[in-house]
Amino acid sequence: MNFEKSEKLYNTAKTMIPGGVSSPVRAIKPFPFYTASANGSKIYDEDGNEFIDYCMAYGPMILGHNPPTVKQAIIDQLDKSWLYGTPTALEVEMAKRITNLYPSVEMMRFVSSGSEATMSAIRLARGFTKKNKIIKIEGGFHGAHDAVLVKAGSGATTHGEPNSPGIPAGVTEHTLQVPYNDIEKMAEVIEKNKNDMAAVILEPVLGNVGPILPEGDYLKELRALTAENDVLLIFDEVITGFRLAPGGAQEYFGIKPDLTTLGKIAGGGMPIGIFGGRKDIMEMISPNGPVYQAGTFSGSPCSMSAGIAVLDYLKENKVQETLNKRGDNFRKMLSDVVGDKKPDYYVSGISSLFVIFFGEKPLNYQDVLKCDAAGYMEFFHKMLNSGVFLPPSQFETNFISLAHTDDDFNKTVEAVEKNIV
Ligand code: PLP
Repeated sequence: MNFEKSEKLYNTAKTMIPGGVSSPVRAIKPFPFYTASANGSKIYDEDGNEFIDYCMAYGPMILGHNPPTVKQAIIDQLDKSWLYGTPTALEVEMAKRITNLYPSVEMMRFVSSGSEATMSAIRLARGFTKKNKIIKIEGGFHGAHDAVLVKAGSGATTHGEPNSPGIPAGVTEHTLQVPYNDIEKMAEVIEKNKNDMAAVILEPVLGNVGPILPEGDYLKELRALTAENDVLLIFDEVITGFRLAPGGAQEYFGIKPDLTTLGKIAGGGMPIGIFGGRKDIMEMISPNGPVYQAGTFSGSPCSMSAGIAVLDYLKENKVQETLNKRGDNFRKMLSDVVGDKKPDYYVSGISSLFVIFFGEKPLNYQDVLKCDAAGYMEFFHKMLNSGVFLPPSQFETNFISLAHTDDDFNKTVEAVEKNIV
């Protein structure tokens, strides 16, 4: 494959944009491909190369790239202009859909990114409980803001900066860490810090070093433990929301968190974040209460229009049901080839999420760090040259969209068989 134009773009980009990229996960070494367009399950670079895409913009594009219904909704909105700074009927329509799908989300606010959603949810949890400490899961990723960049997964782990410099110790001293899937450790840390513990925030399925699934009754036990100790439970469903089930992981696993954060799929590919939950907690948000939160682009009409279009399409076509079956089949196909070639590697996943771990089945972040991340990167480059774009890190999840076909899956499995040596 020829990457001449991408290399040239990178050489110019890196003089003005750190690493030549607008977000670190995109910084493939020695240089990333620069995208020209995308359609369905395919992404095309500036050199005219075509790849089957399993990054899918890191999750939002559940219908595939460029889906006609979402595109039309955005075009229709553009005719009416695209930012007003005033409330719209679109927000009301969108809110109705979210409360219907997520009974735990009695009230919500729209923001512009998942990071903003988790930042606001954490502030709200602290404001409501009048306590300072939060617990996050080691390797969990909740966006790139100060309170949660502690042992963070995703690009933070990939680039060796899970605890970012530039964040005062006084901020992160209130962020405690426990391993995923370890309810005893969680109970111990809650007990020790009970008087100042506001909330536990977690991805119900650990997505940003995974997917790693909850073992046994972990989530149920966590719900009971937090409730018993008056600690709020925040489900960060930025990845799992609208994917595992229409009502996300909370529907899939039958758990009712106090607060929920959503994003990605909810905006149909336009920027979005949502935080919401129990009415008594959400009423603390300004202007009803004293916890401040605001944003110029919050509830952006294009994000709302695209979001409504995607949510209606998902519902009318029972997309999650279809994708969950396709995900099961595809993981089985992958497990068969991986099992033959590398019996010590593990294909993990749930719903339309998957990953090939270059190591044994992990239960938590420390386990994942034992995987052969360098070996994965070699595999990544071979797959790219075979026309398959996987996430450029062992510490990310792959996404299947409705646009992925049997032909894509067969070609991918053939490429895995060839390249996993
Ligand atoms: N929470 C989770 C679980 C995520 O995976 C991400 C991003 O990948 C975020 C929050 C941050 O969302 P955003 O990138 O929209 O700020």
